[in-house]
Amino acid sequence: MVPRPAYPRTILEFQQRFGTEEACREYLFASRWSEGFLCPGCGGGEAGAMHRRRLVWQCKGCGHQSSVTAGTVMHGTRTPLRTWFWAAYLVTTHHPGVSAKQLQRQLGLSRYETAWLILQKLRRAMVAPERSLLTHEVEVDEFFLGGYEEGLKGGRQRGKKALVAVAIEVRGRGSGRLRLQVLPDASGRSLLAFTQATTAPGAIVQTDGLQAYRALAKHGYEHRRRAQSAAAPGEQLLPRAHRAISNLKAWMHGTHRGVGEEHLAIYLDEYVFRHNRRATPMAAFQTLLGLGALHGPTTYDQITRRAA
Ligand SMILES: [Zn+2]
Repeated sequence: MVPRPAYPRTILEFQQRFGTEEACREYLFASRWSEGFLCPGCGGGEAGAMHRRRLVWQCKGCGHQSSVTAGTVMHGTRTPLRTWFWAAYLVTTHHPGVSAKQLQRQLGLSRYETAWLILQKLRRAMVAPERSLLTHEVEVDEFFLGGYEEGLKGGRQRGKKALVAVAIEVRGRGSGRLRLQVLPDASGRSLLAFTQATTAPGAIVQTDGLQAYRALAKHGYEHRRRAQSAAAPGEQLLPRAHRAISNLKAWMHGTHRGVGEEHLAIYLDEYVFRHNRRATPMAAFQTLLGLGALHGPTTYDQITRRAA
């Protein structure tokens, strides 16, 4: 397995690497054909650029046309590649999150709608990958989220709150992978369905004292249930779940005020995506642009050789 290239750690590094349309195009080209152009039609290795923007290449042998943006979120876009790369970079690395308004301002886009559309497309890439089950030891909890409304100054938040379930892996003193899901209610049936959708049978599942979790033990989980009243003074039960919840609340409140219920699931996916890739931002960046799943990783050498 070829190691993924080091992710630019600073805006300056990113700017140096992806500062021009040419550099972004070369990166896409190298992501698609790391060993040089290879025609999917005839296997030929020679091609010429078709397009003014050099995004479509035509095989000199059989005339087959290949696009470097096919299968990526940038396909068919009129927005410069640089803007997409910057947007993906900001969405991946900026904490906490980034809003369409911030994106518009930071990228100097004249239209809010462009920023919004880019963000929606990048967000779509955050939904699918989170399907594998959590394992070993998992904290499961439920909490209320939302009710944030724009323009309410101080006082109590109004608006409808959503019930959300959290599952997070225990990894030593730290946290592993995270899952979040909107729940219809806090019944035993809903909590069991959430646990089964997120956590592998046989795992140790830690919960609070809520009666509704009692069914877990009958469904193949090693259930460890503790009431907060049984905790030592100052001890917080389910510390990883609570940390994730408070970070999520800060993020939702600070960045995405006024999130409607219909968009909540999307924002939860975005939060989970970023949490689960916090140690591998380059993989996150590629997944967002639609590069990760389609093509093998590209080494830094391949990129710089092509860009040279
Ligand atoms: Zn060909």
